[in-house]
Amino acid sequence: MIEELALFGGDPLFKQPKSTSNLIKPNKKTFKEYLLKSFTEESSSNNNGGLIQQFEYKFAKLHDVKYCIPVVNGLWALVITINELKKEGKSEIIIPSLTYRRMADIAAWIGLVPRFCDVDSENFAVSRAEIESCITDQTAIVLAPHSIVNVCDVKGISELCREKSLPLLFDSVESYYANINGKRVGSFGEAECFSLHASKFLNGFEGGYVTTNDEQLAKRLRLASSGGKVSDGEILNFGLNLQLSEYHAAMALSCIDEIDAQINHNKSIYKTYKNGINNIRGLKIIEYDESERRSFKNILVEIEDGWRVSREILIEIMHAENIIARPYYTPPLHEMERDYPTVYEFLPNTDYWKTRLLMLPSGYFVSEKDVNLVLELLEFCQKKAPLIIEKYKKYVRRIDV
Ligand SMILES: *Cc1c(COP(=O)(O)O)cnc(C)c1O
Repeated sequence: MIEELALFGGDPLFKQPKSTSNLIKPNKKTFKEYLLKSFTEESSSNNNGGLIQQFEYKFAKLHDVKYCIPVVNGLWALVITINELKKEGKSEIIIPSLTYRRMADIAAWIGLVPRFCDVDSENFAVSRAEIESCITDQTAIVLAPHSIVNVCDVKGISELCREKSLPLLFDSVESYYANINGKRVGSFGEAECFSLHASKFLNGFEGGYVTTNDEQLAKRLRLASSGGKVSDGEILNFGLNLQLSEYHAAMALSCIDEIDAQINHNKSIYKTYKNGINNIRGLKIIEYDESERRSFKNILVEIEDGWRVSREILIEIMHAENIIARPYYTPPLHEMERDYPTVYEFLPNTDYWKTRLLMLPSGYFVSEKDVNLVLELLEFCQKKAPLIIEKYKKYVRRIDV
């Protein structure tokens, strides 16, 4: 009965919040062993000991790339990499509007003006055509983030940037276990950036890294993230202390050791969602391309025209049940207020997709049983939509339904 919904006073479906964050807790013993190793090792610093070296080696191997530069988090990894790659004397960075909420701030840190491009009408990721239409004589760099399910058109965008002699950086935070035409994410463009925040696929508590095959760039990034001091006395202007600590490396390394088990878990969650969602009118799961390697971490659902309660009401209903579903990248960057300049034109695909995508709980703490409860709730909301809306209007006293 609709009175049993937690939004209308019933008990929540889950006692603990079920979130879209991964929050993986690796094996305690593995973590402890890494930590003890670091603790007993004779090392002059906490930033360049054995674990950091092991981290660089293992992550470079994971991405099949020559260099991995650890950084305190994903945001600063992006800042220093953009700063190293940008064309001198140019003022704009091209980024999509439908992406990570801090992306424009990252550009502003370096004094670049974000030019927001639209996303592809089909897969809502950046595309060659949309980026091309934003290139001006002021373009300093292109930043291409992968979307949270599957990847963007790496081949098309790489070709475009090569033709136009523009540096290209991928934000691969959401796709670090992906393959593109059989090749692992990590060595495309000039460089790629990753995060190890607890909410992401691999958990370093906090952390991030940059991957590249460019030796000079790797060297510059190491300098930029370790104070900027060059041995012959020169100092990099943008040198900050952004080094990852041994303890974060220990956590991230412990997660790498369990990657296969995690993928299997994610895959079973995804399959359960997929079977269930596709039987609910008005909802469609965004499918992973299973012909390539994928992490299956994120569960993204399209709300179609046949869905009868709005996305926003559905989110309220779910949050009351302790299901922390989230609207996909909302609001898009071009709609956020800022105290620095930005540029954009007509963004019809972003405007279309910004209201239609919903992320559902997934990750380490979500079980198949949990997924089945979420599915039951969704089905219930679809069946009882008119009654729910009527009650919602009375109960929440709002009419903008
Ligand atoms: C989380 C995230 C970042 C930033 O990473 P942090 O480690 O949290 O600073 C950058 N890009 C994307 C796409 C993200 O999801």
